[in-house]
Amino acid sequence: MAIRIENNVSLRMYNTFGIDAAAKTFAVFSDTEELAELLHDKAYTEDTPFILGGGSNILLTKDIERPVLLNRLKGITLVNEDENFYYVKSAAGEVWHSFVLHCIKNEYAGVENLSLIPGSVGASPMQNIGAYGVEIKDVFHSLEAYHIKEHIIKEFNATECSFGYRESVFKREQKDQWVILSVTFRLLKRAQFRTDYGAIQEELDKMKLEKMTIKAVSQAVINIRTSKLPDPKKLGNAGSFFKNPVVSLEVVNKIKENYPNLPVYPIDEQSAKIPAGWLIEQAGWKGKNRGTHGVHDKQALVLVNYGGATGKEIFDLSTDVLTDIVSKFGVTLEREVNIH
Ligand code: FAD
Ligand code: NAP
Repeated sequence: MAIRIENNVSLRMYNTFGIDAAAKTFAVFSDTEELAELLHDKAYTEDTPFILGGGSNILLTKDIERPVLLNRLKGITLVNEDENFYYVKSAAGEVWHSFVLHCIKNEYAGVENLSLIPGSVGASPMQNIGAYGVEIKDVFHSLEAYHIKEHIIKEFNATECSFGYRESVFKREQKDQWVILSVTFRLLKRAQFRTDYGAIQEELDKMKLEKMTIKAVSQAVINIRTSKLPDPKKLGNAGSFFKNPVVSLEVVNKIKENYPNLPVYPIDEQSAKIPAGWLIEQAGWKGKNRGTHGVHDKQALVLVNYGGATGKEIFDLSTDVLTDIVSKFGVTLEREVNIH
């Protein structure tokens, strides 16, 4: 049966900012054969297709001229195990948090700190998603991806993905060339709890546990996240809008002359990560409301759509924040969200 290709489809329900931009060409694929068929179709060969997962890391500033493909590949399988690890393969269209819950239910350890991150499994390697001291590179084994023009399927190991802080080869050198089909994770049989980060331990203490479990860590992360971060179903957003900048110690010391309380997370002897949200808050942007959109009042790193904002308005707000941070701190923030 031929796959349905639709025209002028509103993407409002397909991006967590809730921006009402349209896709000129739109289709859904549920298996690799459907994907291959679509990628051979004239509607998809004339321009580079845009692969859409959960739409939680994009800002649509205009209608999308590129043909859109919505990934609905499903299935999670335990493909192998050895003395220390489970090897679990997830199709790219699985919802990330459902995958995390599946791992917790089956006692596959390693992704509990990454609970409640929105989006799909397929997008998780794109920016090497991370939270509370864990990144997917820590549990990554390999992924399979389909080359959009050459129509081949290739397996990538961790080195080939070239993961960095909210980065991978798929966001840089190989941008827009591959459709990630599945990701295989290497998960621990014996959990190594990572609770030293942020308020996790404090939250666990409140839970008065008899025994530490990955389920408890996941619940602690869920509790913290729901107390600070806006639920995209209620308030449009795409999580952290900017990356935390890594700067030289010289820059750190310069900022500290005026802001001695600056939080600093050392990277090496010459550089350190500083929280973008803290800089934005100090600059007075936290809770800034421009009617339809603004800066979240509980977490300054998150820009929000109160209702009816255009992507262009949110982009312009991000530019104003960026410009102000350069002038106040001499630090250039980089957008984490993919702008389209
Ligand atoms: P989309 O937004 O659909 O796509 C993002 C990019 O990846 C696009 O360029 C798209 O073309 C590409 N892409 C998507 N799927 C594929 C595929 N199968 N093959 C090839 N390319 C693809 N991120 C973190 O790292 N840590 C967090 O803690 C975190 N918290 C968040 C909290 C909130 C409330 C929100 C809204 C977002 C948060 N994010 C976080 C950002 C976001 O959830 C992640 O980046 C997530 O991995 C995006 O997944 P997605 O499926 O929604 O990707
Ligand atoms: P937070 O705990 O208030 O901390 C602020 C920032 O300081 C974080 O972004 C984090 O950097 C850094 N940080 C805190 N403790 C650290 C430590 N012990 N070592 C190194 N760096 C430390 O942050 P939050 O906003 O509530 O977010 C909590 C976690 O969820 C963070 O890891 C954050 O990245 C993640 N998150 C990400 C998104 C997104 O869209 N990317 C959205 C929400 C939350 P890192 O970001 O490098 O961890």
